[in-house]
Amino acid sequence: MTSQPAAAHAATTEDFIRNLASVNQRIASACTAAGRDIDSVRLLPVTKTISTERLELAIAAGVDTLGENKVQEAQGKHEYFREKFPHLRYAIIGPLQTNKAKFVAQFADEFHALDSVKLAETLQRRLELEDRSLEVFIQVNTSGEESKSGIQASEAAGLLAALAPLDRLTPVGLMTMAANTSDEHEVRGSFSSLHQTLEQLQPNAPESFKHLSMGMSGDYELAIAEGATVVRVGQGIFGARNYA
Ligand SMILES: *Cc1c(COP(=O)(O)O)cnc(C)c1O
Repeated sequence: MTSQPAAAHAATTEDFIRNLASVNQRIASACTAAGRDIDSVRLLPVTKTISTERLELAIAAGVDTLGENKVQEAQGKHEYFREKFPHLRYAIIGPLQTNKAKFVAQFADEFHALDSVKLAETLQRRLELEDRSLEVFIQVNTSGEESKSGIQASEAAGLLAALAPLDRLTPVGLMTMAANTSDEHEVRGSFSSLHQTLEQLQPNAPESFKHLSMGMSGDYELAIAEGATVVRVGQGIFGARNYA
C-alpha cells in the first residue's frame, strides 16, 4: 500500500508496548496535522492469524479489542480467552455468510462488514435468541475493485433504512477498504467518498451513526486526514502476517 512498512515481529510484551505507542503516536500526529482532536480516532488492533500465545503478550500491553476477519478464528479466540479476559471486545471486520451469523451473535461486539438486508435480519433474529446487541458498520465499496466486498454508496441509504426496525443492531457508521494501489490520490479518493456518503446519510440516520472505519497499516494516516474515526491496524502492531 502507500507508506508504512510493517512493524518488526513483536515477541515480547515490551515489543507490543513499543509498537502500540508508535502507532498511537502516528495517529496523534495525523490528528494534529488534520486539525482534529487526538481522541477522535480509535485504534482497532487487527489480530487475524496471530496466535493466542502472542495475543496474551499484546493484551498485557493494552490491546482490549480483537479485530478478526474470519468468524471461526474469532470464535476460537473468544473460547480461549473468555474466562481469563472477560473484558475483551471482539470486532468482526471481514465479510460474513448468513449461515455464520449465529456465531457472531454469540460473542461479537462490533461487525464492520454489513452488506445486505438479509444478513441484517438474520443477525437480528440470532441476537434476539442470545439476548444480545451488536454495533454495525455498513461496508461500502469505494474503490470499484471487484475483489472488495461492500455495497455501492448509492445503496447505503436503503440498507440503513432497513435497519431502523432491527432493534438489536446499532448502526454506528460506514466502513471501507481503499483501493490496493500506491497511488495516494486514489486511496484518499476512497476515503473522502466514504466521508461524503456518511454526511449525506446523517440527516436521516440515528445519532449513533457517526463513525468511519477506514485505514489500515499502510494508509491510516491518509484515512485520518479524510476523517477516519476507527483505524484497523494489524501489521503495524504485530509485524508482517504469516499465513502458513
Ligand atoms: C487484515 C485487515 C486489516 C488490517 O490490515 P493490516 O495491513 O494488517 O493493517 C484491516 N481491515 C480488514 C478488513 C482486514 O481484513
